[in-house]
Amino acid sequence: MIIILKRNPDQSKVDIFVEEFRQKGLDINYSKGETTTIIGLIGDTLSLDMDLLRANEIVEDVKRITEPFKFANRKFHAEDAQILVGEGAFGAGKFGVIAGPCSVESYEQIIEVAKRVKAAGAKFLRGGAFKPRTSPYAFQGLKAEGIEMLLEAKKVTGLPIVTELISINHLDLFDEVDVIQVGARNMQNFEMLRQLGKLNKPILLKRGNASSIEELLMSAEYILAGGNSNVILCERGIRTFETATRNTLDISAVPLIKRLSHLPIIVDPSHATGISALVKPLAKASVVSGADGLIIEVHPMPSQALCDGAQSVTPNEFDAIMADVKLLCQMENKAL
Ligand code: PEP
Ligand code: MN
Repeated sequence: MIIILKRNPDQSKVDIFVEEFRQKGLDINYSKGETTTIIGLIGDTLSLDMDLLRANEIVEDVKRITEPFKFANRKFHAEDAQILVGEGAFGAGKFGVIAGPCSVESYEQIIEVAKRVKAAGAKFLRGGAFKPRTSPYAFQGLKAEGIEMLLEAKKVTGLPIVTELISINHLDLFDEVDVIQVGARNMQNFEMLRQLGKLNKPILLKRGNASSIEELLMSAEYILAGGNSNVILCERGIRTFETATRNTLDISAVPLIKRLSHLPIIVDPSHATGISALVKPLAKASVVSGADGLIIEVHPMPSQALCDGAQSVTPNEFDAIMADVKLLCQMENKAL
């Protein structure tokens, strides 16, 4: 971290300021020029509050040289991480596809979708049991019963299951869930992230719809710093001025996150657009952008879906998407 001081600062105040950093175990690189004095801080500056430093009367500006995250930082983990679950994996040359309905609606529905997405090449079954809905009057999910149905579908197909945790109070119900999804709305539920950091289970962390890439990585940092290194990131669209789509898919987040972090990053083209016809082109774009997987909503009859029908593709449409995804994965040297 670099701290630029105001012109002609009071030397006694500078001495006190610098001593505080020494007390914290940081090494100081002090450079006094004719007009500018610069303090370089060497060591672990992650816990320093930049705004507080800036508020000091002798400080002109503060700049971070390294990112404020360590465990999620590629600088400290040169190799791509790979998260293995069942027969599927994300990252380091592996492309994982998660597919299934937005919400688990019935035993028949989830079994039918599970069989179809498995046949098409998906390695994971998704399905919301607890649904975070904007309206309290909208379908809230089948809850514990929904998780039971997912586990039945897992028994029938062998597909590991991915489902969303919306309250840490429900964690007991997630013992047999293979991948716990943290949804966009909970990306900054820091207490939940801390608790998930204590588990040894893969966490699918979705980007909040108004969160920056750095904020997403800082949320991942909460889980990683707790000791759980199994984090899969997910770009699912962010809110912009554009209203033609539900969200705007930030495709540039994929290659950018791959530079910043070793963690796998997958794309959700369903929530990113809200329009089923756009899922295929954006799924293809995701593969080519370097993503490590996809999460796609599939419903046997989207017009009858209790949640997110407009963005759900049919099993037949999913077959067609997977055919293209497979070809593109070959081109990108990624194994499905
Ligand atoms: C979902 O996956 O069904 C969901 C609610 O996603 P998000 O948190 O990205 O909105
Ligand atoms: Mn959904």
